[in-house]
Amino acid sequence: MLDAVAVEAPFRVTDLKDWVYCPRILYYAMCLPDVRPTTFKMEAGADAGKAEEGRETRRSLKTYGLKEGRREFNVAVASERYGLRGLVDMVVWVESPGAEEVIAVDYKLSEVAGVHFQMQVAAYGLLLEEASGLPARRGFLYEIPKKKAELVSINGRMRDKLLASLEAMHRMLHNESMPAPTPNRNKCLACEFRRFCNDV
Ligand code: SF4
Repeated sequence: MLDAVAVEAPFRVTDLKDWVYCPRILYYAMCLPDVRPTTFKMEAGADAGKAEEGRETRRSLKTYGLKEGRREFNVAVASERYGLRGLVDMVVWVESPGAEEVIAVDYKLSEVAGVHFQMQVAAYGLLLEEASGLPARRGFLYEIPKKKAELVSINGRMRDKLLASLEAMHRMLHNESMPAPTPNRNKCLACEFRRFCNDV
């Protein structure tokens, strides 16, 4: 795997997830880096991911519709081209001749596979594809409370959306310009940055 530390990549894949949820969250995190607290949700998510790794080794790959594959946990990936780096909870390497592919799996405490989570998995796929040369056609969100794997298709539409988001993120960082608030104001109700958004 690529040496993630050696690659110039200003954004983490979790930054992309935040950007898709609300671009301002990433703006505050990058331009006011000292204000973001470590929330209970973040700590609980990290602990749950570690616990899930143990359960995963006993779980059949049928959960992901696979007959065979090699599992690898906590895989670091990075890309200078995309300016993106991350740590994938689990990667399944399918190495059967003629059917090779690489599949990213991300564990979530959430019961809803929101579009920001889907794009996070797709971004891991893109980075793994670039590093390994194997195609990333799909990934999975493993919803821990439901014990269910949700398929994420890494199709042309998803790739276009990813690239458009990455472009906009790099533009925001370069210009240090504050993005518009999310149009879905329900997201603001429990947002940790709400006190900074005087216009919502
Ligand atoms: S309060 Fe709303 S607009 Fe502001 S960062 Fe949070 S979600 Fe985005």
